[in-house]
Amino acid sequence: MARLGVPNTFQAHGCGPEITPLLAKVWRVTCPPKVKHFMWQVLTGSISVSANLRRRGIDCDVGCMRCGADVETINHVIFVCPPARQVWALSHVPVGPQHFPTDSIYVNVDHFLGSTNPGSQIEIFPWLMWYIWKVRNACVFENQTERPDDIVRVAQGEASSWLKAQVEDEGEEVISSPVVPTSRLQGRLSPLPLVYCGYRCFVDGSWKETDVFAGARWFCTSSQGSSPFLGATNYRRSLSPLHAEVEAFSWAMRCMIGHNFRDVAFFTDSLDLVKMVSSPRDWPAFATYLDGIKTDREEFSSFSLFHIFRNANTKTDSLARQARLSPHLVLFVNNFPSNWLI
Ligand SMILES: [Zn+2]
Repeated sequence: MARLGVPNTFQAHGCGPEITPLLAKVWRVTCPPKVKHFMWQVLTGSISVSANLRRRGIDCDVGCMRCGADVETINHVIFVCPPARQVWALSHVPVGPQHFPTDSIYVNVDHFLGSTNPGSQIEIFPWLMWYIWKVRNACVFENQTERPDDIVRVAQGEASSWLKAQVEDEGEEVISSPVVPTSRLQGRLSPLPLVYCGYRCFVDGSWKETDVFAGARWFCTSSQGSSPFLGATNYRRSLSPLHAEVEAFSWAMRCMIGHNFRDVAFFTDSLDLVKMVSSPRDWPAFATYLDGIKTDREEFSSFSLFHIFRNANTKTDSLARQARLSPHLVLFVNNFPSNWLI
């Protein structure tokens, strides 16, 4: 398998791990999706460190602002820069010039992936990477510094509460979780109210790694009781299931604007989509989509986004799956094959 075309500083020493299986392993790591996406960006060289900005033609100093190294690469920030080295050492990762950290980002990430690799017992490594990056940004943009032991403590706390929440969520039988974009996600979930104003738009994206297309669909009902509106489309498969959810949501918003429905409550079964719209700054990998969503929101007199469970979103689910499987690009709005709703 070929390596991605990434800078020389990311190349392993001749016999290092390949990028494709590493990326596949990253998607299987037990951690929040935003952290997985961040690790994916780390491996593919799409983090805005100084060296990358210079390559894109942005006139900036390519050195590391914290330690004075000549070139600030992603590998340098996350693994090699002295403050990062201290974090890894304090986390009981075996460190040493021969094995970790090396000058290959692939080797360093692979250190934690795979059950027999030396760092495989460090369950919190995704959070450590994430916080090392956040602290680097706080230093560069806000001139703030954090102690390495504080970074380890915060990462441990976040990791343990997230891992605990995963266990607690299992088997929970709840129907909906109303969340407005400005509020934090918390509290018990409650059923959808039967009486409402304006429109309700149920949105879903459909994505499968082996398919050429991803699907998107929405199903919209009116408080006035008129016939439901539906839309389905497909497009070239994007990077991940979460990308498909964001794309579906963006498309549904534009369809609602096109219909001049301006008082709309949107519903999705993707909790990450709700979190993303709620806290866009935590999802830099989706900045382009989220900027568009923010702009489109201005078109609504009333806008909210709610989480519902998949079994409450079956109409759109079926519609999107059908759109994904269609061999050609399709677009249906208020004009759909009725058997797609079965
Ligand atoms: Zn440095």
